[in-house]
Amino acid sequence: MAVHNFNAGPAVLPRAVLEQAQAELLDYKGRGMSILEMSHRSKEYEAVNNSAEARFKALLGLDSDYRVLFMQGGASAQFALIALNFLPPGAVADYVLTGSWGEKALEEAKRIGETHVAATTAEGGFTAVPALTDLRLSDHPVYVHITSNETIQGVQWASLPDLGTVPLIADMSSDILSRPFDATKFALIYAGAQKNIGPAGVTAVIMRQSFLERAQADEPAIFNYKTYAKNNSLYNTPPVYAVYLLDLVLGWIEGLGGLPAIAQRNTRKAALIYGAIDGSGGFYRGHAEVGSRSQMNVTFRLPSEALEKQFVSEAQAQGLVGLAGHRSVGGIRASIYNALEEESVATLVAFSAEFARKNG
Ligand SMILES: *Cc1c(COP(=O)(O)O)cnc(C)c1O
Repeated sequence: MAVHNFNAGPAVLPRAVLEQAQAELLDYKGRGMSILEMSHRSKEYEAVNNSAEARFKALLGLDSDYRVLFMQGGASAQFALIALNFLPPGAVADYVLTGSWGEKALEEAKRIGETHVAATTAEGGFTAVPALTDLRLSDHPVYVHITSNETIQGVQWASLPDLGTVPLIADMSSDILSRPFDATKFALIYAGAQKNIGPAGVTAVIMRQSFLERAQADEPAIFNYKTYAKNNSLYNTPPVYAVYLLDLVLGWIEGLGGLPAIAQRNTRKAALIYGAIDGSGGFYRGHAEVGSRSQMNVTFRLPSEALEKQFVSEAQAQGLVGLAGHRSVGGIRASIYNALEEESVATLVAFSAEFARKNG
């Protein structure tokens, strides 16, 4: 039975991508073997690697000022690598905290160098992003780090900040390529693929070339961004199958019409589900403030934890899976990433209305 997959990550992938991967699994482009079984130095894999970088840059409207690198260790490795490469002794890096992942990024940076919290919405329970006028930057931050979409709290920057010449870094793990935005405002963007653009195992790192130049030279090669850039992400064996699937997903987004088209689709899905929450007469209560609501992870509560448990298990019985909130915050979380079909959201909305009618 096909399910409606609301998992937060690893998450739903486009069916067309899975079908293509299945069709190509045993015999990749007439080579008589799968892409999993050939050298990462083969011309076939090199083409996949180059296609993934080119497609990423085309979707984001980036030119030769930027590189897209494919790395391992997830977004969590980036938390440490960013500080290792760009936070030298004597310098300060600023962090804006809008949820759990930003806190984790800060914790890692603190092990490595001096940090400053430019703003945090922890006090309100991470229900919103700060106003730009509430950012208190340090004197000369080497970078400012934000989380564009906090996957656990369901809090997203509706419009991304522009800090001018101050290098801006964003963890976009859970909303990368979900909407158009001006990527040239960022020095570095990173995203684990497994939320919105592919399987687990590969992390995309989009970096401005002039920022890359600032990377510390004395890091071990494998932890140095320059190593990845110089070797076209092929310094050591990359996660070949994950990059291959990522490339197929990027092709799928292109085919839909790129970021404007995917954003329209995502906006329709989010409007449907937030409409159901707001129209429930208070039975469902959204976690995030309206202006900071995530278009990717819709977080909400029911009148009691017992009802939340019942909601998750009855939904599951009807093929609506992955709706339990993160274990650290509870409640319900519906992750409605790029690949989730509108029909799945409509099914959830119908289920929610019926559940409220019976239990309200
Ligand atoms: C999932 C997630 C992470 C952690 O990703 P890993 O690949 O498990 O390291 C970090 N940041 C955000 C915003 C996430 O959604």
